[in-house]
Amino acid sequence: MRSHLLSRTQFGNPILRRRAKKVALKDVHTQTFETLIARMFFTIQDIGVGLAAPQIGKSIRLAVIDVHPLPHRPDVVPYKRVIVNPKIISYSKSVESDYEGCLSCGGIWGKVPRSKSVAVEYYDEHGEKHREVVRGFLAKVFQHEIDHLNGILYVDRMTDMHTLMTAEEFNKRIRKK
Ligand code: ZN
Repeated sequence: MRSHLLSRTQFGNPILRRRAKKVALKDVHTQTFETLIARMFFTIQDIGVGLAAPQIGKSIRLAVIDVHPLPHRPDVVPYKRVIVNPKIISYSKSVESDYEGCLSCGGIWGKVPRSKSVAVEYYDEHGEKHREVVRGFLAKVFQHEIDHLNGILYVDRMTDMHTLMTAEEFNKRIRKK
């Protein structure tokens, strides 16, 4: 059962626009929760670096992050985490625009300005609290996933709609560089 892919909600589904509910920390110790997390990680294997629960039809404050180096971002340090009830405590003033895509937005990419670093607080799958400062690509992933828990999609954050493009164009013109 663990290996089953979860079906994903797509842009237009109202669940992606809702503020998700807090996870009761006692629930993280259940088999249901453990299975859900394993299936979320399995679902994004090879296709994404993060997945928030609303993207699989669950309006709860839970996301998984699985960042690893790839040819177009070789400097990324591997980072795999379950984030429960995450919060951004502070944002760096310096902002950087980079391309983002989303598993709920049908292969469309666009440039999104994000803080270069953020201080975050979250609980892990054991119910333990963490506080850390994340930077660079990982900081963008945290901001993107936490936005999902507040009903915000990356397109809402875009300031230059002329950078919006299909995956085909993105792969041809941006990723190959
Ligand atoms: Zn997304």
